[in-house]
Amino acid sequence: ADYRLSDVNVTDTTCGHCAVGCRFDLYTKDGEVLGARPTDPEKAPVNGISTCVKGKFTYSYVDDEDRLTEPLVKENGEFREASWDEALDRVVEGLGDIIDEYGPDALGLIASSKATNEDNYVMQRFAREVLGTNNIDNCNRLCHAATVEGLAATLGFGAASTGLEALEETDCYLLTGSNITEAHPVFATRVKQNVAEGAELIVFDPRKIQAAEYADQFTRVEPGYDTTWINGMIRYIIEEDLHDEKFIEERVDGFEKVKESVQQFTPEFVEKKAGVPPEELKSAAETIANADSCMFGWALGLAEHTHGTDNIYAIANLALITGHVGDSKSGLAPFRGQNNVQGGGGDMGPLPNNFPGYQSATDDENRAKFADYWDMDIEDMPDEEGYRLTEMFLAADDGDLKGMFVQGENPTVSEPNIDHAQKVLEDLEFLAVQDIFLTRTAEHADVVLPATSTVESNGTYTSSSRHVQLVKRAIEPKGNTKPDWAITKALAQRFGYEWEYETASDIMNEISDLTPIYGGVSHERLENGEELQWPVWDEDHPGTPYLYDEKFLTDEGDELAHMHVAEGIDPAELPDEQFPLVMTTGRVLYQYHTGTLTFREEGLTEGYTGESFVEIHPDTAAEYGVSEGEYVTLTSRHGTAEMKAAVTERPSPGEVFTPMHYFKGGANNLTKEEPLDPPSKTAEYKVTNVQLTAEGQP
Ligand code: SF4
Repeated sequence: ADYRLSDVNVTDTTCGHCAVGCRFDLYTKDGEVLGARPTDPEKAPVNGISTCVKGKFTYSYVDDEDRLTEPLVKENGEFREASWDEALDRVVEGLGDIIDEYGPDALGLIASSKATNEDNYVMQRFAREVLGTNNIDNCNRLCHAATVEGLAATLGFGAASTGLEALEETDCYLLTGSNITEAHPVFATRVKQNVAEGAELIVFDPRKIQAAEYADQFTRVEPGYDTTWINGMIRYIIEEDLHDEKFIEERVDGFEKVKESVQQFTPEFVEKKAGVPPEELKSAAETIANADSCMFGWALGLAEHTHGTDNIYAIANLALITGHVGDSKSGLAPFRGQNNVQGGGGDMGPLPNNFPGYQSATDDENRAKFADYWDMDIEDMPDEEGYRLTEMFLAADDGDLKGMFVQGENPTVSEPNIDHAQKVLEDLEFLAVQDIFLTRTAEHADVVLPATSTVESNGTYTSSSRHVQLVKRAIEPKGNTKPDWAITKALAQRFGYEWEYETASDIMNEISDLTPIYGGVSHERLENGEELQWPVWDEDHPGTPYLYDEKFLTDEGDELAHMHVAEGIDPAELPDEQFPLVMTTGRVLYQYHTGTLTFREEGLTEGYTGESFVEIHPDTAAEYGVSEGEYVTLTSRHGTAEMKAAVTERPSPGEVFTPMHYFKGGANNLTKEEPLDPPSKTAEYKVTNVQLTAEGQP
C-alpha cells in the first residue's frame, strides 16, 4: 500500500536478527510493520546506513497467522487456549511439583539470546532466587561458549577485544571459520571496503566461501585441525624471530610453555594433518607478524568443536605473540550469532557458573552481594555450578533432570542429534515453553506462554562489538502476548516474590547496580544518544571502544595476558570406509538460526534456501553419480537425512556442507550429542563423518 510519510510511525530501534547490531528506523502503521529504512547514522554506530536483507525485509512473521496470541495448555495430548491465570498456575504447579519431589536441581532453564538483556537478567534471577538452582543456560553453549572460555582465561573477558576501528581500519585480517558475507553481512561490507583500500585479507577455511574471492590469500584447511595450523604459524613466527618480544616481555605470561608446546607443529606436520601447504602457512604467518595492526576474526568454525577451547587458546596465543591485542586497530573479534547472545546469552548471567557480568556464581562474596540485594537468605542461594545446556539433555536422559522451562529457544532443531533432543523433551515430567510461535520444541510442552516479538518489546541488546543499544516498541503487542520479563515477573509473584519492576528501564537500573561492567549503563543515557560499549564502569564513564590497552583482566589479577597451551588433537571422529566423507555445517544469508522467523518470509525462502541441501564438490558428485538438484541421503554414525544436492566447488572433494537451519533433512539429524569440549561443554557440530547415497526423497 502507499502511505504518506506523515501517516506512519517511525521508531528507531535495533535489529533482532544478528549480533552485528544494526540500528534503523522501523516504519509502522496501525500495528503493521511496513519496513525498515536507515536512521540518523549518529544513532547507528555499527552500521551507519547499511543493513542486510534480513534486517530490511523480515517482518511479515509479526502478523503471521500462526503467531501465538493466547496462552495454551495441553489436555489429553491436545493444546487448548487458556487464560493467563490458568496457564501461569499450571507452570507454577509443574515446576513446584518437581522441586517438591526431586529438589530444584531437577529443573533446567533455557534462556533466550533473542530476548533483551532485561528479559535475560530477570530469567536468571528467577532461576536463582525463586527456583533455587544454577541450572540455567542458553544457546551460547551451542556456538561461542568455547570462545568465551578461551578468551576469558587468556585475556579477561569472553568477548571481542576489538571495537569498530579494527574492523574498518586494521592493516590485516586473519579470517577463519567465519562465512562473514552470509552470517554477518554488514561486517563483511566493512571488511571488503578496507581491503579495497589496501588492507590484507587472509582467509583460512575448509570451504571456498565468498570472502575467499577478494582475499589476498585463501587457504583450504581440513575441518577439525585449526589448532594444528595456528600452532604451526606460532612455531614458524617464533623460529623466524618475528614475534613481538617487547610486548611478550611486558604483558604476557606463559610464553615459554607455549613455545615449547608448538615444537611438533612443523610445516610438514601441519600439511599432513591440516592440509595447509608450507609456503601458504609461512606467507600468512609473515604477513600477520609484519603487519602494524591485525584483526583476528572468527565464528563457529573455530568454536563448535570438541576441542573448541583449544582453538581459541591457539588464536589468542597467535595474537599475543605478534603483539596484536590492546590497540585500537588490532585484536580478537569473535563474530557472535544471535542478536543478543553477547548480552542476553552471556553478560546477563543466564549461565550455570556466572551471575551477570561474569561474576562467579559459586564465589561466596558474589552470592552474598546478590542475596543481599534481592533480600534473600544466603543459605537459599545455590552454591554449586549448574548443568550446561548440552549437559541438561544428557542429565535428562540419565533421569536426573525432570522438567524444563524454555524461553525463546528451539532445541529440537538446534541441539546436536535432534532425535535425542526430541526424545528428552517428550519424556520430561513437565515442560513449559515461552515463545512467539508454536515451535517444534513448543509442540512437546505442557504449557505454552505467548511472548512479544522484538518489534513489540522495550529493552536493550548488546552487539558483537559490546555496544549496548536500545530496542523500542514500534507496535502494540499482538493479542494477549506479554514481554518476556513481565511473564517471568508474574511467575515469580505466584511463587510469592514481589519484584518491583514496572519497566525494562527499571530492570536495567538493577543490572547496573549489580554488574560492574554495566555500572554506568542506563536507558536514559542511551536515549540521550550516548554510544556505550561495555565496560561502562559508572555513570560518568564513556564506555570502552576496545579492550586491554593498558592491562589484561584475567582472574589472576596480575594485569597480564595468560597464554594457555593448545593441544593439537584430532577431531572426535575420523572418516573410515563406511563413513568416508566429512560433513561440516554453517549458515546461509537468507535464513536465521532455526528459521522460526525467516521461513515465514516468502522472499527469503524462494530458491535453494527454502529446504535443506548439501553442497558436494563436482568430483564427489561424479564419483557418486549425483547431479545438481537431485535428492541424496546422508547417513552418519548418529542418524540419517535426505536433502537436495547442490554441486559446487565450495567444499573440497572429501567434504560436504549442510546448513544448520533445517529440521527436515537438516544437519542436526546427523550430528552427535557427545563427547563435549571439556572446558566449554560445546558439542562437535563441524566435523561429522557421513556416507552419501545417490538416492533420496524431498
Ligand atoms: Fe540485522 Fe545482522 Fe543484517 Fe544487520 S547484518 S541488518 S543486525 S541481520
